[in-house]
Amino acid sequence: MSLIDIGVNLTNPSLLKNIDDVTLQAKSVGVIHQIITGTSIKNSQQALQIADSDPSYFSSTAGCHPHDAKDFQTSDEDLLLQLAKQKTVVAIGECGLDFNRNYSPKESQEKVFECQIEIAGKTNLPLFMHQRDAHQQFIEMLSEYKDQYKSGVIHCFTGDKKQLKDCLDLGLSIGITGWVCDERRGSDLQDAIKYLPIDSMMVETDAPYLMPRNIKPKLKSRTNVPANLPWVVNKIADILGLEPEFIAKQTTENTRRFFALSK
Ligand SMILES: [Zn+2]
Repeated sequence: MSLIDIGVNLTNPSLLKNIDDVTLQAKSVGVIHQIITGTSIKNSQQALQIADSDPSYFSSTAGCHPHDAKDFQTSDEDLLLQLAKQKTVVAIGECGLDFNRNYSPKESQEKVFECQIEIAGKTNLPLFMHQRDAHQQFIEMLSEYKDQYKSGVIHCFTGDKKQLKDCLDLGLSIGITGWVCDERRGSDLQDAIKYLPIDSMMVETDAPYLMPRNIKPKLKSRTNVPANLPWVVNKIADILGLEPEFIAKQTTENTRRFFALSK
């Protein structure tokens, strides 16, 4: 199986401290490429630095997570634009709206998201997006700016069938994490992915978060790693009654096309 993990938080200290092992382990189970998530200017610079250490294996995103929106300065717009021009940066984000915890006020989340949609348009890069408890507002904003960006993926989609339809109607792609493996809170998503066209699907671990709960035997470590990606793919295949290899092949093709990865 050859897989691409579209969302790895490799700058997180729990992964960074073992980055060589984490990478070797991922490669050994068929993870052939990883896209490192950037969540703030500083963090995106760090993600780029890691990606540049092996651009044939890593890419990165550059953006400002809704949690960090309150700290986004006007001057950061230029910095983000600079980052976006780097060869290894393949998307703008992680950006979007998170009204679940409101770590940043709604108004600043909207303003910073809007700014990143514009940058994605200017640089012709796809959007790598996060949405939590903000579905309506999120869809409205993306509809309003529909002509300004080329494409977008909602990473770690956790919604239901209706929310999925709204996203697909906007032409968005959908990132599936280990949330789908969660027998408690993943049931809406497990139902929704039956309505997700395979060519709009990508897979990710969101490591070190969201450890897939179907891993057997249970791992001692509570740190999720990109090497656990096959468990997400197995679960999707199981729900859809398809072969994991088929899901792997399709999602890898989708990912290469969507992020314009070479090879
Ligand atoms: Zn996220």
